Amino acid sequence: MTERIFNFSAGPAVLPVPVLERAREEMLSLPGVGMSVMEISHRSKPFQAIIDGAEGGLRGLLGIPEGYRVLFLQGGASLQFSMVPMNFLAEGGSADYVITGSWGKKAVKEAKRVGATSVAADMADSGYNRIPAQDELKLDAGAAYVHVTSNETIEGVEWKGEPEVGDVPLVCDASSDICSRPVDVSKYALIYAGAQKNLGPSGVTVVIIREDFLAKGREGLATMLDYRTHAENGSLYNTPNTWGIYILNLVCEWVKEQGGLEGMYQKNVEKAQKIYDAIDATDFYRGHAAPEARSIMNVTFRLPSEELEKKFASEATAAGLDGLKGHRSVGGIRASIYNAFPPAGCDALTQFMKEFERTNG
Ligand SMILES: *Cc1c(COP(=O)(O)O)cnc(C)c1O
Repeated sequence: MTERIFNFSAGPAVLPVPVLERAREEMLSLPGVGMSVMEISHRSKPFQAIIDGAEGGLRGLLGIPEGYRVLFLQGGASLQFSMVPMNFLAEGGSADYVITGSWGKKAVKEAKRVGATSVAADMADSGYNRIPAQDELKLDAGAAYVHVTSNETIEGVEWKGEPEVGDVPLVCDASSDICSRPVDVSKYALIYAGAQKNLGPSGVTVVIIREDFLAKGREGLATMLDYRTHAENGSLYNTPNTWGIYILNLVCEWVKEQGGLEGMYQKNVEKAQKIYDAIDATDFYRGHAAPEARSIMNVTFRLPSEELEKKFASEATAAGLDGLKGHRSVGGIRASIYNAFPPAGCDALTQFMKEFERTNG
């Protein structure tokens, strides 16, 4: 194998090596097909088997109950920021948004362009370093839905469970932690996720939607923006991202081999703990997230100065640890350690952290 570095990128992100190898093997010819997946019709039998496999993979991993549809859309999670309110925020209605970081802020910004919103909580005062407690949520029992972001990729804060929302439909942007841990899908009306963090390459967005919620969608939308179009056509109303769905299918198979979401979760907790332990071992590094809100996918921390942070990121890159620079909006260091990120990379980072402190502390 050619040499691979440790890729801490926040997204598009590291993919499992066995998935990349399989894709390489099948690049010129899918077994029994004689063409690559990128060269065949999305309405062909071989592709139907792939998209069915991808849906079955997600259903199996997440334990998606009967009565939910799984869609493979395009436009990223960012288009979902608009599609959710377009479909479900009716005239005269209002939707609740819980804002735990940068992505939640973007979601509510788009919803406001469509209709009335209410901020159930905004953790700005704490610098988006924690998740609100149940009694901090100002929920409207008549809301069209409640929107949460299960993992704030930029700040590195993650919900450890769902908020209690009564009978109000719960909508979740799970882009950066989908399939990183077991989740009770039945608590949600809609879950969406861009694939490029934990499920595959960019260009595919997974939407898991409860059928009774789907049926409540507004009429008269542009065809492509109406969830029903995609549900009624098995995500094949137009040409989907066939390559992306193919890789997503392989990623699901790989996650299953890791012991499913239970196994994946244990590995993820162990990986994250290594880095959080290294942060907690010294005052040189300061974790951003409050301990109880720490993400197991994106570990964010600061150094004593921005100058040192810059030096840390560039020396890390030179040492084969790439993508550690924090998001441009918040600075600092961010280690994104999604499902496919190897534990050895977390060991390499903690070693690097110790050495960097020794020579710069
Ligand atoms: C990356 C990310 C997005 C944006 O995804 P796109 O596919 O680029 O639109 C939205 N929400 C969260 C939580 C993310 O991590």
